[in-house]
Amino acid sequence: SEVVEVRNLPSSGAPLHVAELWHGPTLAFKDLGMSVLGRILSHLLRKRRERLTLLVGTSGDTGSSAIEAVRGLPNIEIIVLFPLQGWSSITPVQIRQMTSVAEVEKNVHVVGVEGSSDDLDVPMEQCFRDRTFKAAHRLGSVNSVNVVRLLVQAVHYFYAYLRLEPGVQRHAQFAVPCGAAGHLAAGLLAVQMGLPIRLIAATNANDALHVVLSSGALASGRPTQSTLSPSMDIQMPYNLWRLLYVASGSDGAAEPPALIATQPGDVLVSWDTWEVRSWQAGLAARGKLELPSAVLAWIARHVRTVAVDDAATLAAMRDVHRRSSYFLDPHTAVGVAAAQRAPFGEHDDSESIVCMGCAHVVKFLPTLARAFDCSIDAAIGMLERECSSHKNLAAVEQMARQVQVTADGLSQMTPPGCTAVLRRGEDWEAKVRALVTSVAGRAASPNSRL
Ligand SMILES: *Cc1c(COP(=O)(O)O)cnc(C)c1O
Repeated sequence: SEVVEVRNLPSSGAPLHVAELWHGPTLAFKDLGMSVLGRILSHLLRKRRERLTLLVGTSGDTGSSAIEAVRGLPNIEIIVLFPLQGWSSITPVQIRQMTSVAEVEKNVHVVGVEGSSDDLDVPMEQCFRDRTFKAAHRLGSVNSVNVVRLLVQAVHYFYAYLRLEPGVQRHAQFAVPCGAAGHLAAGLLAVQMGLPIRLIAATNANDALHVVLSSGALASGRPTQSTLSPSMDIQMPYNLWRLLYVASGSDGAAEPPALIATQPGDVLVSWDTWEVRSWQAGLAARGKLELPSAVLAWIARHVRTVAVDDAATLAAMRDVHRRSSYFLDPHTAVGVAAAQRAPFGEHDDSESIVCMGCAHVVKFLPTLARAFDCSIDAAIGMLERECSSHKNLAAVEQMARQVQVTADGLSQMTPPGCTAVLRRGEDWEAKVRALVTSVAGRAASPNSRL
C-alpha cells in the first residue's frame, strides 16, 4: 500500500531523510514514471489503432525500467541499447534484468554495445534525426525527454514533502542524484507549482551539469567517465534546456523578457536578446555555452550543485551504514554526500533535507563489496534479511546470485538474450537501422494483434 517510503536517518546536522522511490519491479525510481508512461502510450495507441517502436538507450536503469513498463503490450515494440560490461560500470544483474525479459517477451529486444552510454546515443540520434525513417517505422522514445515521466516525477517531491513531520517546518531541501537531469527538472516543476523547496543537484565525476549551473559556462566535448554510479554517467544532460527554460522565464524566445514570480520578489528582469534555442544552437555550432548573470542568479536561489567523486560516494555509503545501519545505493550516496557537503547557506537544523533514493544497492553488489571491503557473496549476505521480506528485492537478489556464478567472461561474449551486439569498427547506424526495420516489420505483420 505504501509505494514510496520516506525514512528518517539519524544524522549529526539537519534531519536527513531518504525518499525510497525504488520499490518498483526493477528497483529504480524510474519504474514509477515509466509504468504510467507505458500504459498511457498503449492506451492512446489502441484508440488510434497505431503502433510504436521504442528505441531506448540506457546506462543501466532506464532500459530495464522501460522494458518492464511495456513488456507484453500488443502495440509496442521496444529496442534497448546498453553498454556491455567493460565499457561502463553496468552490473551483471542490471544486464540480466533486461536480457531475462527479452528471452520470454516477443516485443522486447536488447542490444549490447561496445561503448559508453554517450557512444550508443550517436546511432540512435542518427535514426531519430532521419524524419522519413522515423515516421516509416513509427519510432519513439521513453528517455526522460518524455514529459510524462517528468510530470509523474514532480509528484515524488510533493509526496515526500507531505510525509515529513507535519507542522514542523515549511521549507525543505531535496538532494537529487542527477544524470540526464530529468528528476531535477521535475523538481523545478514542483517549485513552479509552489512547493517551498530548494534543490541540491548532485552529479558524480561527470560534472557538466555542475559546471554549467555553478559557473554559467560550459564547453562541449567533455569525455564521459565510468563511475560507481553508472546511471549518472552522462556529460550532456539533455534536460538542461528545460532547466534553462524555466530559469529564463519559461519563454523559449524570450522577447520581451517574460517575468516569472515563483515567490514574491523572485522576478527576472532586463536582458537583451537571448533565448534557449540560441544557446542550444551556440553549443552545437561553437561548442560553448555562456549564461547571462540573471539566469545564473535565478538558479543560485533555487538550485545548488555539487560534484561527488567515487571516493566520497563510498565514504557516504560507509558513513550512513555506521550511523544508521542503512545501506545506500551508490547513486543515492552521491545525493547524500552532496547534501551533507553543501546544504543551502543560512540553513538551520530544523529544515529537513530529503535525498531522493533512486535505486536499491542489491543491483550494485560490486560497489557494495568495494565499499565494505568484502566479497560479493558477503555483500549478498549483508542484504539477505532486508531482501527476504520484500517481493521485488527478493526477485532481484535471486537474480544476483545466479549471475554471480556466470559473471566471468560475460564481457567478452554476447550475453544470452541479446538480439545483437554492436562491436567496435562496425557501422552502428546501419545495424540499428536494420534492426528497427525488422522489428517494426514484425509488428506490422498481419498476424500481430493491434
Ligand atoms: C536515472 C537515474 C538517475 C539520474 O536521473 P536523471 O533524471 O537522469 O537525472 C540517478 N540514479 C539512478 C539510480 C537512476 O536510475
